[in-house]
Amino acid sequence: MKEPTSSAKAPEPPLDFIRAIITEDVANLKNGGRVATRFPPEPNGYLHIGHAKSICLNFGVAAEFGGKCNLRFDDTNPTKEDVEYVESIKQDVHWLGFDWEDREYYASDYFGQLYDFAVHLINAGKAYVDDLTADEIREYRGSLIRPGKESPHRARSIEENLCLFERMRDGEFEDGLRVLRAKIDMASPNLNLRDPVLYRIRRVSHHRTGDRWCIYPMYDYAHALSDAIEGITHSLCTLEFEDHRPLYDWCIENLPVPSRPRQIEFARLNLNYTVMSKRKLLTLVQKGLVAGWDDPRMPTIGGLRRRGYTPESIRDFAARVGLAKRENVVDVALLEDCARDDLNRRVPRALAVLRPLRIVIENFPEGRVEDVELANNPEEPSAGTRKVPFSRVLYIEQDDFREVPPPRYFRLAPGREVRLRGTYFVRCTGVVKDEKTGEVVELRCTYDPATKGGAAPDGRKVKATIHWVSAAHAVDAEVRLYDRLFTVPDPGGDDEEDFTALLNPSAREVLCDCKVEPGLAAAASGSRYQFERLGYFSVDPDSADGRLVFNRTVTLRDTWARIEQTRRQGLGTRD
Ligand code: ATP
Ligand code: MG
Repeated sequence: MKEPTSSAKAPEPPLDFIRAIITEDVANLKNGGRVATRFPPEPNGYLHIGHAKSICLNFGVAAEFGGKCNLRFDDTNPTKEDVEYVESIKQDVHWLGFDWEDREYYASDYFGQLYDFAVHLINAGKAYVDDLTADEIREYRGSLIRPGKESPHRARSIEENLCLFERMRDGEFEDGLRVLRAKIDMASPNLNLRDPVLYRIRRVSHHRTGDRWCIYPMYDYAHALSDAIEGITHSLCTLEFEDHRPLYDWCIENLPVPSRPRQIEFARLNLNYTVMSKRKLLTLVQKGLVAGWDDPRMPTIGGLRRRGYTPESIRDFAARVGLAKRENVVDVALLEDCARDDLNRRVPRALAVLRPLRIVIENFPEGRVEDVELANNPEEPSAGTRKVPFSRVLYIEQDDFREVPPPRYFRLAPGREVRLRGTYFVRCTGVVKDEKTGEVVELRCTYDPATKGGAAPDGRKVKATIHWVSAAHAVDAEVRLYDRLFTVPDPGGDDEEDFTALLNPSAREVLCDCKVEPGLAAAASGSRYQFERLGYFSVDPDSADGRLVFNRTVTLRDTWARIEQTRRQGLGTRD
C-alpha cells in the first residue's frame, strides 16, 4: 500500500454535525442540492447573544453552501408582540453583518394559507373542533405515565367541523370557547402528538393584521408550514423542539405543501452569570433594574453593542462556541476574550486616568509643554502615531501609588522611581495629604531629563511604567465600569425563585471625575479605544457636546489584580 502523500495544507477542521448533514444532503442532491435556512425570531423581545449564535449559524450555513437565509418573524402570538421588537431585531441582524435582502417574511403573511391548510386537514378527517376547556384538554391529554383520553367531540362530522371552524374565524365564539385540534393519536407516547391544538380564539389586535383575525395558529403548526411555504430545506432550531419534530413532520406530511424541510436541533447557548430568557430580561427592563434593553450589562445584542462589542467579536464567539447536541454552559470569560482579541488588533490606544491623583513635577519648567509621540496601536504600525501633551502637572491613577508599597508592588511609592509612559523617569519626593482625612491628594516628584523616551543613559532600570494625562490639557469624562450582571453563575437555574435578588449590585460603577487625553475631546458616539493598562472603552450615546461618557467593554488581562486576588484567597503569590 502506498503511504498517503503529505499535503502542504493544514487539514480542515471537522465539520460540525449540522454542516455534515447539509453536506451530505447537497451531495445527494436532496432539494436539488439547494440550501435554504431561516432565522425565525418571535418579535416579543430584543435579541440576545443566544440568538446571535442562531443568526450566525443560519446565515453562515446559507452563505457557505451558496444558499439563502430568510428573516422570518414568527408573529403568531399577538398578545406579546410589538413592532418595536421587529425594528430592533432587524437592526441587530444587520449590525451583526447579515443580510436577508428582500426576504423579510412574517408568519402572519401566511395566515390565509394556514387557514386553508386547516380546512384541508378537516376535510381529510385529520382535524376537529373541540369544545373542551383548556383545563379539560390538559386533563384529557394525560401524562408520560397516563394515557390520553379522547375528547367527546373528536368524532364530529367533517361538515360540522367545517362549519364550526368557519364560525370560529367569523368571531361567533368567545375567546377560549373552542379550539381546532389535529386528530393524531391520544395514545402516543409523545405528548405533542396527542391531538395538539392548531388554532385558538384570541380577540387581540395583531401588530400587522390588525383585527382581521380572531383565531391564531399555534406555533408548531405555523412554524412547520411557514418553513414549507418558504422552501426552507434545513430548519435549524434549539433542542427543546426535538420532541416537537414528529408534529413538525406530521404537518408537512399531511398537507399539500410545496417543499419538505428537515428540522435539525442543536443545543442553545447558555452563558454563566446572566439570564437568557426573554421573559426574565423583560422583567429586568420593566422593573427598572437595568436602564433598558440596551443597558451595557444586558446580554442583548443591543447591550453588547452599546458596551463596545464589535460584530466581529460576536461572530468569532459564535464560531468558537461551536455546535453541540447536548445542553452546556459557556463561560462569559470566553465572550470577553473574543472582545479583547478583536479590539486589540483594531482600536487605537489612548491615555486615560479613571481615579486621578495629581502629581507635580517640581523640576519641570512651569508653562512648558512637550509633545510626546505615541503609537496609536503597537499591534498595527500602519495606525501611525499621535502627539500627547506632557507638562509639569499631571494626573496618574490613584492605584499606581502606594504610600506603603506591599511586596511585589513595583509602581510609585515615596522615594521610588517609575517610567511615565512614552516619556521620562519620575521619582516621588513628597506626599501632600488632606489635613482632615489624611488622604493623599497630591504627589511631589522630580523627573530626570536624561531619560527622555523612557531609557536611562546610565543603564538604571525601573520596574514599572505607568500612564498619565497632563492636567492642563485633560478632558473630563464620565466612565462607566461594568461587571457581571449576577453574583452567581446560574441565576436562572430555578424558575420559581426570585432571580432579581441575585443581581450583582456592583455590576455598574460610575466614575465621574475621569481625565482623558485631549485628542478624545471630539470622540464620536460608538468609537472605541484601548485606555492603556485599563481595558477597552467605547463612547456611550449619552455623550453630548462637552460631556464625554465611556463604557468599559472589557478589562485587559490584569496581572496585578490576579496577584492581589490570589493573595486574598490565601493561596500565596504566583507570577
Ligand atoms: P421564547 O420562544 O421563549 O420567546 P426564544 O429565545 O426561543 O424565546 P425566539 O424568538 O423564538 O426566542 O428565537 C428565535 C430563534 O433563536 C429560534 O430559532 C431559537 O431556537 C433561537 N434561539 C433562541 N435562544 C437561543 C439560544 N440561547 N441559543 C441558540 N439559539 C437560540
Ligand atoms: Mg422560541
